[in-house]
Amino acid sequence: MWKTQSGKLDIKSLSLPQLQEELTALGEKPFRARQLYQWMHQKLARDYDSMTNLPGELRRKLAERYACTCLRQVQMQESRIDGTKKFLFALEDGHVVESVWMRYKHGNSVCISSQVGCRMGCKFCASTLGGLVRGLLPGEMLDQIYAISLLTGERVSNVVVMGTGEPLDNYDSLLQFLRLLTDEQGLHISARNITVSTCGLVPEMRRLAKEKLQITLALSLHAATDEKRRSLMPVANRYSIAQLMEACGYYFDQTGRRITFEYSLVGGVNDTREDARLLAGLAGPLRCHVNLIPVNPIKEREYVQSEAGRIQAFKNLLEKNGINVTIRREMGRDIDGACGQLRRSYMQEE
Ligand code: SAH
Repeated sequence: MWKTQSGKLDIKSLSLPQLQEELTALGEKPFRARQLYQWMHQKLARDYDSMTNLPGELRRKLAERYACTCLRQVQMQESRIDGTKKFLFALEDGHVVESVWMRYKHGNSVCISSQVGCRMGCKFCASTLGGLVRGLLPGEMLDQIYAISLLTGERVSNVVVMGTGEPLDNYDSLLQFLRLLTDEQGLHISARNITVSTCGLVPEMRRLAKEKLQITLALSLHAATDEKRRSLMPVANRYSIAQLMEACGYYFDQTGRRITFEYSLVGGVNDTREDARLLAGLAGPLRCHVNLIPVNPIKEREYVQSEAGRIQAFKNLLEKNGINVTIRREMGRDIDGACGQLRRSYMQEE
């Protein structure tokens, strides 16, 4: 497990006990594993040579045997409106992923990708247009956060897995990533400050519930009837809204964490009063928070944003029905802000 494309084990993807096992097999003392782990996950070292308290001999051995994922920045765009930064990183095998850094009142937030491309096929999303290349290793997800924290020189306090890819389609990697990210010996980000967004893979939602993590699970609902949802998201052909709601209830029962519904408002498609009424009927019983996202138009599709008045009316109607609702602030509108757009424009240039 956790092999890079070159066939070597990615040392950044290993938990501390796994690392201890590896180093013991190399004849090293357990404390060396702890030192190495802290270099990678706390001091955010970029290479073995900077790990100065490890003997040179060990550093050479490590470099020979293991890969150590370190993403390379290939592009950065900064919003002049709100300072949001969008990074494009190259992986060891040359594929690129994008990650976003956002500054909020309550701290800095990083949005990471979980896969290279995506196979879910949501109609309004740019990330899925080229299909799935591969899932990311835990170390490749972590290093998006590490690299950004070094490049900005600022602490990251919130992480959202809402970039390119379907995190639950890369389940084992995601779980290992979450364990490492929240580990006391690592960056130690509180689980409550982590959000994982899914298009609604029911079996994996249930599996995740059993882990009883204190993260926030966000469900990309985007429609309140199966028919409408199917027209926007192919995954809706696999799982009905009824199945999804059941999985959400189960998730809440297991973890005590309320689900967030994400709902991208698409002009003339899912933004009527009837849509709002039906959505309230789904969110109410589960006490879900609803996050409305004005759809970010991509040039490959005709979808347009709902008018501002309509968005407000939609929000008011939900509130009147007792639903806790926010409209997502659009960060970085002036840069290739929508999911997968920076990566896509980069690949088209290449
Ligand atoms: N695959 C996961 C996470 C990635 S997308 C998921 O589906 O949840 C993160 C969120 O952005 C999802 O709610 C997704 O539906 C939404 N999204 C993607 N493209 C968008 C666009 N062009 N405009 C508005 N929201 C978009």
